Amino acid sequence: MKTLRVKEDALLSYQIEKQSLDARKKPQLSYVYTVAVHLKNEKEFLKKNRNANIQAASENRYHMDVSGTEALRERPVIVGSGPAGLFCAYMLAKAGYRPLLLERGMPVEQRKKDVEKFWETQSLDPESNVQFGEGGAGTFSDGKLNTLVKDKDGRGRKVLEIFVKNGAPKDILYVNKPHIGTDLLMSIVANMRKEILASGGEVLFHTRMDRILQNENGTLQELLVTDTVTGRSRHIKADICVLAIGHSARDTFAMLDEEQVKMEAKSFAVGVRIEHPQKMIDLSQYGDTTLPLPAAAYKLTASSSDGRGVYTFCMCPGGYVVNASSEQGYLAVNGMSYHDRAGENANSAVVVTVSPEDFGGSGVLAGVAFQRRLEKAAFATGGGLVPIQLFEDFCQGKITENLGEITPQIKGGYAFGNVRGIFPEEISRALEEGIKAFGRKLPGYDRKDAVLAGVESRTSSPVRILRGADMQGSIRGLYPCGEGAGYAGGITSAAMDGLKTAEAIARKYHPFDKET
Ligand code: FAD
Repeated sequence: MKTLRVKEDALLSYQIEKQSLDARKKPQLSYVYTVAVHLKNEKEFLKKNRNANIQAASENRYHMDVSGTEALRERPVIVGSGPAGLFCAYMLAKAGYRPLLLERGMPVEQRKKDVEKFWETQSLDPESNVQFGEGGAGTFSDGKLNTLVKDKDGRGRKVLEIFVKNGAPKDILYVNKPHIGTDLLMSIVANMRKEILASGGEVLFHTRMDRILQNENGTLQELLVTDTVTGRSRHIKADICVLAIGHSARDTFAMLDEEQVKMEAKSFAVGVRIEHPQKMIDLSQYGDTTLPLPAAAYKLTASSSDGRGVYTFCMCPGGYVVNASSEQGYLAVNGMSYHDRAGENANSAVVVTVSPEDFGGSGVLAGVAFQRRLEKAAFATGGGLVPIQLFEDFCQGKITENLGEITPQIKGGYAFGNVRGIFPEEISRALEEGIKAFGRKLPGYDRKDAVLAGVESRTSSPVRILRGADMQGSIRGLYPCGEGAGYAGGITSAAMDGLKTAEAIARKYHPFDKET
C-alpha cells in the first residue's frame, strides 16, 4: 500500500507472484517481491501512475484447446509415467480422452522399496530403479522445478498449479527456484495417478512397450507390450502412442532404430558429482549471516584450455549423491534431496559437453554406446559401488586412501577408485581445469578434499526422436515427447512438453466423453 500510495480500503486482494533473494550486498540480504494486486478503480489508478515499478499485470492463463474433430477408435496410449507422460495423461484424462498409461516399472510405493533395497544390497532390478517406475527419473530427485524454457503460453505455470493441486507446497508458485524434494514428489505422483483413474484413465504398471507395429502406409496399428513380472506379452490396438520413455530406455531406443523410426544422435554432457560442505556453500552465497535461510545453491561455468564448456548441473543443496544405475554391470550417479534439504553436503554434477564426434562410433545410438563405456568403467572402478576420489587425487590420477573433512553423503555405498580413469583424458583434463576455475569464483570449490563420484552420464538424452510441427514422429500416430525424445531437460520442461503433446492430440481428435 505504501508503494502504491493507496489506503487500505482501496486494496481488494493481493497475491505474491515472485519472491527472490537479493544477495548482491551480502551479508546484507533482502527478499525482492513481485506482487499482483487488485484495486478499486484500477484503470484510474494506472492512468495516474508514474512509478515504473508498478505495471498493469498481464494475465497469462493457460488454455487447452479441445477442438479436434477426428474420431479416435482406441484410447490414446502413453508410454512412460515420468513428468512428460504423467502430465500428458493427466491433461488428456481431465479432457475426457480416457488415456491408457503404460509404465514398465512399479508403482511408487513398491518402487521406493526396490530402490532402497538396491542402495543397501546393490541388487538391481532393471525394471524398477532410480530411472524406471512411476514418476520417472524425477521421483528420486532434488525436485528442482526451475526451467529455462520461456512460458509465453502459461504451460510452466499450469504444471506448477497441477503439482500444488496434487500436494506440493504453494510456495512453488512464486519462489524464484522452486523445489519439491523426493519425499513429497512420491505422494504427488501417486495423487496424480489417482486423478487419472478417477477421470476415466487407466494405468498399467510393470508393462513394457516392446514393439511398435505399423501398416504399409507408416501408420501406427498396434503395440506389443510385456508384463515384466509374468513375462507374458500381448498386443494392444492403438491410433496414438505418446512416446515419453525418458533418456534411459536404451532397449526401447534400439527397438525404435530397428523399426526405422527417424532419430538422430545428439550432444549431451558427462562428468562427475562433487560434494562440499553445505556450510561452505552457504557462506559463499549468503556471507556470514545467522538468518534462517534455505540451503544455498550455485551455478558455475568455465571453459577448458581446449575450448570445451564445463558447467555445474543439477545442483542439490543439502542433498545426497545416489547410485542411479538402471543396467546390471553399469554404474551412473545423480543427485537427490528431501524437501528440507537438511543434508550436511551440497552436491552438483560438474560436466563437459560431448558431441557425436566424441562418441567414437557412428550411427544414431553411438551416444548410448559411449555412455555405456563410461558406466561400465565406473562399475569396474568401484567394484559395483559408487567410485569416489578426492579432488587432489583426481588431479594426480591416484586412488584415494583416506577421506578429508568431508564425509560423502552417498546412497548406494561407495569405494575408493581412480575416477579420473573412467574418462578419456581430454574430458578428465577439462573437468580438472573447470573445477580449478570454479575455485576462483567460489572459494573452496577446488579444495583438496572435495569428494568426486562417477559417473554422471545421464544428463540428457543421447538421441532425438524427430517430430514435425504436428508433434508426430515418422510413424503417423507416434508422438515423441519429453526428455528421452530430446525435447526437454528436467522435470518442468518435460511436464510442459507433456502438456504440449496433449494439446496437439486435443486439437486433432475429439474426446470420448464429448460423444456420450
Ligand atoms: P522420465 O522421467 O525418464 O520417464 C520415462 C518413463 O518411461 C520411466 O518411468 C520409464 O520407466 C518409462 N519407460 C521407458 N521405456 C518404457 C517402455 N518401453 N515401456 C514402458 N515404460 C517405459 N530434473 C529436474 O528438473 N530437477 C531435479 O532436481 C532433477 N533431479 C534429478 C535427480 C535424479 C536422481 C535423476 C535421475 C534425474 C533428475 N532430474 C531432475 C531429471 C528429470 O528427472 C528428468 O529430466 C525428467 O524426469 C524427464 O522426464 P521424462 O518424463 O521425459 O522421462
